[in-house]
Amino acid sequence: MNKESIFTRIIRGEIPGDFVYRGERLVALKDISPQAPVHFLIVPIESSYRDVVELTKNDPELLSEIVQLAEQLAKEHADGQFRLIFNTGADAGQTIFHVHAHVLAGNLKEASLGE
Ligand code: AMP
Repeated sequence: MNKESIFTRIIRGEIPGDFVYRGERLVALKDISPQAPVHFLIVPIESSYRDVVELTKNDPELLSEIVQLAEQLAKEHADGQFRLIFNTGADAGQTIFHVHAHVLAGNLKEASLGE
């Protein structure tokens, strides 16, 4: 990542963010444009990885932490079932190139991303 991402600026407090979790290596915040009753973004605090492929090659443990946190948040905020999405590449709908997972839960029948 060459340029500081918007997520880095939110984590630093320079831009407002609605956090639902703050841990040692990860934060989770509400998506500003929710596509489901529960729509959070799980974001590594320190990330030089632009997408989940780079993350997995370099830090698979952190990917595992993301999955575990998604489950925890889905249990706390919905019925425990969830959809976990990593848009990877601009043509796949990725707009912020600081790796992040979308956690969607609740009624997902109408949920869509990147359309
Ligand atoms: P992606 O398109 O997969 O890169 O996801 C980026 C997501 O960040 C989108 O779902 C946006 O709605 C969300 N987003 C953009 N700016 C903010 C913000 N300031 N606070 C929370 N979510 C944001």
